[in-house]
Amino acid sequence: AKAAGGRHHRWYTVELDSQAGEEARLGADLRAALDTGQFHLVYQPIVALPGGEVQAVESLIRWQHPERGFVSPVDFIPVAERNGLITELGTWILRTACEQFRTWQERGVAPLHVGVNVSARQLAEPGFAETVAAVLAETGMDPHRLVVEITETAVFGGGAAVRAVHALHALGIAIALDDFGTGHSSLGILQAVPVRILKVDKSFVENVTVSDRHAVIASSLIQLTAGLGLVAVAEGVETAEQAAELYRLGYRRAQGYHFGRPAADPFAVVSHAAA
Ligand code: C2E
Ligand code: CA
Ligand code: CA
Ligand code: CA
Repeated sequence: AKAAGGRHHRWYTVELDSQAGEEARLGADLRAALDTGQFHLVYQPIVALPGGEVQAVESLIRWQHPERGFVSPVDFIPVAERNGLITELGTWILRTACEQFRTWQERGVAPLHVGVNVSARQLAEPGFAETVAAVLAETGMDPHRLVVEITETAVFGGGAAVRAVHALHALGIAIALDDFGTGHSSLGILQAVPVRILKVDKSFVENVTVSDRHAVIASSLIQLTAGLGLVAVAEGVETAEQAAELYRLGYRRAQGYHFGRPAADPFAVVSHAAA
């Protein structure tokens, strides 16, 4: 660490050092977690409205650290992005989701699609699309059954990320824009990248039954997606009232605790023969 410029700066310097130290420790723990198998994926259903039939699942990573306990992806994905581990972690996530999909196919319970979240740095990494193609070949995964979820922010900068999205599209993979409506320049991005699915952020969904303004936005977004021939998925649906209102507005796909929490295997066969 840099020496403090003067006595009155000392506390501030120590504070910054301890933040940097925690970031480094978390980064090292992530490395160890990959090496010792502390990560697993859970899968949350995406259902049809109004019936609730499962159409797809989204994979979400979970980390159970031996001392820290459960660490949220909101806290560790950004660290993995900054220290570069996201490349290896992201490949592990993709391979694991594809392998899980294969076992669902073998059991005859596979949904139509499995979604995988890809972070900004991972998408912009040189060779990303080639890595995806290699994992698909290795796991026997049909690209038409895979959805890659990206955020508006990831493609906002253009360049490598936009080229990667085009390469994924050319492989036959569907692209979903995640957290739609919360990032930058939403509408311009629809022209820049070949998107198939808009995931309407839960901030619009949570107030759809209580705020006219939110309902107007949710309604405008469904008209936009319909006009462009895209599919809208309402995220974060927690109540039957929200689901009914979203259906009334024109939504035909939804995801949220009301329909199912993320689970290690949402298609597990419940054995009645167990002793
Ligand atoms: P996201 O991609 O927007 O994922 C949706 C988040 O909303 C998940 O949180 C999910 O558990 C949560 N959720 C689902 N339904 C409801 C609901 O009805 N109400 C509420 N309040 N929340 C709901 P989670 O699993 O903690 O993930 C948080 C974020 O971390 C994700 O947001 C995504 O940005 C990131 N993330 C998670 N898994 C991965 C991954 O495998 N790779 C990458 N790159 N990022 C991931
Ligand atoms: Ca997502
Ligand atoms: Ca989301
Ligand atoms: Ca999010």
